[in-house]
Amino acid sequence: MIPIAMTRAGIVTVVGKPNAGKSTLLNRIVGQKLSITSPKPQSTRERVVGILSTADTQMIVTDTPGLLNPRYALQRAMQAAARRALDDADVIVYLADARDGPPPTLEDAAGLVTAPRAPVLLALNKMDTLLPEQRAALAAARPSALPISARTGDGIDALLRRLTDALPESPFLYPADDIATQPLRFFASECIRETALEQLDDEVPYSVACVIEEFREERHPVYIRAVMHVERESQKRILIGHKGARIRDIGRAARVRIEELVGAAVYLDLWVKVLPNWRRDAGMLRRLGYRLPEDSAS
Ligand code: GDP
Ligand code: MG
Repeated sequence: MIPIAMTRAGIVTVVGKPNAGKSTLLNRIVGQKLSITSPKPQSTRERVVGILSTADTQMIVTDTPGLLNPRYALQRAMQAAARRALDDADVIVYLADARDGPPPTLEDAAGLVTAPRAPVLLALNKMDTLLPEQRAALAAARPSALPISARTGDGIDALLRRLTDALPESPFLYPADDIATQPLRFFASECIRETALEQLDDEVPYSVACVIEEFREERHPVYIRAVMHVERESQKRILIGHKGARIRDIGRAARVRIEELVGAAVYLDLWVKVLPNWRRDAGMLRRLGYRLPEDSAS
């Protein structure tokens, strides 16, 4: 008889305030730059799923858009995505910025009426920025928390061991060499949005939604037509720049990133369109691919 090794597999959900370092941690865990990281908060608008497979464990890691108050329609969509992620989890990593001191419980921070079904591991991130005495004080205040630095990698092995122990016995849920379950076109649109975030000043980027209208992998170079939607004519002018210089720069930088992602030469056909007030318009949000709370009744 052939002995069957025991494997573990399940969903690891990372939750925390904007800027806590969720995307950085996800990238560290899956070892691939899948989710976008940025010094500006709220840059992750949809769940991004990465997968870490070792010989005997498979973690399907989800990044959440942060636990925000429902101020307007877009944020409601983000919050609904975070809730769904919590309900799907086998284990939850509650990530907090260590510089903010001892964090409230996840229930308090997220305004949850009931505790999540899955076990919650509190990880205190950015420990690299603290002085030794600050670390000691934090460890005394939250003895069960895991001190980590998503940036340097300190504490990540210990975190992965705790996560592995918390996962149920299960066969692998995805092929061992899959790094992501979401289609490439999602990551391509994130590449474009990330590039726009980097190249533009504060106001415009949050008004940019990027939609991939055509993605032809069978062509050489791979043909991608993408539209960046902004809210106002003035934003469109900023995005396009003098004689189109800005949009050309964004397109060039985004193309290089997408080529890394798909591993082939890419022709990026990039457009800018004005969709007035898309962030406050539920119908518009749906057309742009966001799911709103009332969509998840099924
Ligand atoms: P998210 O909004 O929770 O996804 O946070 P990000 O992963 O985008 O990180 C927000 C900012 O914190 C970025 O500038 C990161 O480089 C930074 N950051 C993340 N983890 C660490 C860490 O362990 N140490 C330090 N010093 N900075 C970090
Ligand atoms: Mg993020």
